[in-house]
Amino acid sequence: MAMEDRRYLIRTFGCQMNEHDSERIGGVLMADGMTPTDDPGDARVIVLNTCAIRENADNKLYGNLGHLKPLKDRRPDLRIVVAGCLAQKDQGEIQRKAPWVDVVVGTHALPHLLDLLNRAETDGPQMDVQEYTDLFPSALPAARGDGVRAWVSIATGCDNACTFCIVPFVRGAQRSRAMGDILAEVQGLAAGGVVEVTLLGQNVNTYGRDVTVLDSSRRPLFADLLRMVNQVDGIERIRFTSPHPHDFTPDVIEAMATSEKVCEHIHFPLQSGSDRVLKAMQRSYRRERYLSWLDRIREAIPAIAVSTDIIVGFPGETEEDFADTLDAVERARFDSAYTFQYSPRPGTRAATMPDQVPKEVVQERFDRLVALQTEITAERNRRQVGERLEVLVEGDGKREGSTQSRTRTNRIVHLREQLPAGSFATVEITEAAAHHLLGRVVEAPQPAAV
Ligand code: SAM
Ligand code: SF4
Repeated sequence: MAMEDRRYLIRTFGCQMNEHDSERIGGVLMADGMTPTDDPGDARVIVLNTCAIRENADNKLYGNLGHLKPLKDRRPDLRIVVAGCLAQKDQGEIQRKAPWVDVVVGTHALPHLLDLLNRAETDGPQMDVQEYTDLFPSALPAARGDGVRAWVSIATGCDNACTFCIVPFVRGAQRSRAMGDILAEVQGLAAGGVVEVTLLGQNVNTYGRDVTVLDSSRRPLFADLLRMVNQVDGIERIRFTSPHPHDFTPDVIEAMATSEKVCEHIHFPLQSGSDRVLKAMQRSYRRERYLSWLDRIREAIPAIAVSTDIIVGFPGETEEDFADTLDAVERARFDSAYTFQYSPRPGTRAATMPDQVPKEVVQERFDRLVALQTEITAERNRRQVGERLEVLVEGDGKREGSTQSRTRTNRIVHLREQLPAGSFATVEITEAAAHHLLGRVVEAPQPAAV
């Protein structure tokens, strides 16, 4: 590529996995001498890092590409890249619907991004969605936005086959990253001042199960990984997402309970409270079992906060099934929940199941679920008032002179005082709002140990 105007802009859609892939894309482009910009008019390369989980993700991509078309017409040297899960899934369709796209790069082919951009200069549009297995994407450099917290990928892909989910199609089978590589990355991050890491994978607690070893008793497992990361000097907080409830084994709970840096928060996706629906979703647990696992975790780690994912309107979901979901939510007392309206994903089994639920019924159930969970979240937040908690300062708050911080249980606390990002402070919670807390500092911030 020509050396002038070497700025890039990345727009990210979707989950943390995608956010982290965007950091990798930024890292690759920066290593080639480019710098980031927020202004599309100033960018030589614009990357849309896409998500395929729900239908509106497709609409967002084509909407964005439509907006970029006049810019590309005016500036033919602009390079437009589509990356991520939709690039993997809809390869040909993207090039057909938006022939002004220069590069379509699949989730496994990120290491080839620069080559593809270079080839696009001379040979026109490029596409690479092959399944490369030689290079784990995390071996790429990363351009991380926040010097305090970082995501660390521990595995890609998923070996489950939930009938609603596109992930196994676009991210492939589970591939665990070597434990030594993960630890080296965490140590490097700690040396650079990062104090909190979030271990990322579609199904983190099956980490290591795909690794071939001569003696299976020596296979590295997720609990081992938690313990090892816990020993990295400079790291003060460890989080992970997402675990599958089924694989939340006693050794993982034990490792969490005994590793002091592992935060008291888990994301524990329920999906549905109806056994009939869980079966049709091909989730391997049922409602009572899920709730008993939750009891077991809360017994071992009493301070734990729990978030979840719930899908409303899975094909065939009846009012009775939905009542079971409301009942499970009522009993589980989640601290927060991501609620989704079911979206048929072409290629998944659920997309062709009979009895797709009408949109207005889904909406009405969804509203009821959100209302219930909002009440429960508010009640769980109110319980924090008066507590003294350790927070990690993340940066400036929205209001001038204020600070945004986070508890170990993943609650956001807004503080009036201005504190340096990366420091820890003890705060007293003074007020609870729907999605955050307010607090005041009671103990001066300690600079993070680096
Ligand atoms: N691996 C994670 C797990 O099993 O919890 C989920 C990854 S997915 C990116 C995040 C959430 O999106 C899922 O837990 C599910 O609730 C939701 N989701 C996935 N496919 C969906 C679909 N077709 N329609 C609506 N929501 C969906
Ligand atoms: Fe999708 Fe299920 Fe795998 Fe999660 S566990 S990524 S929902 S197939």
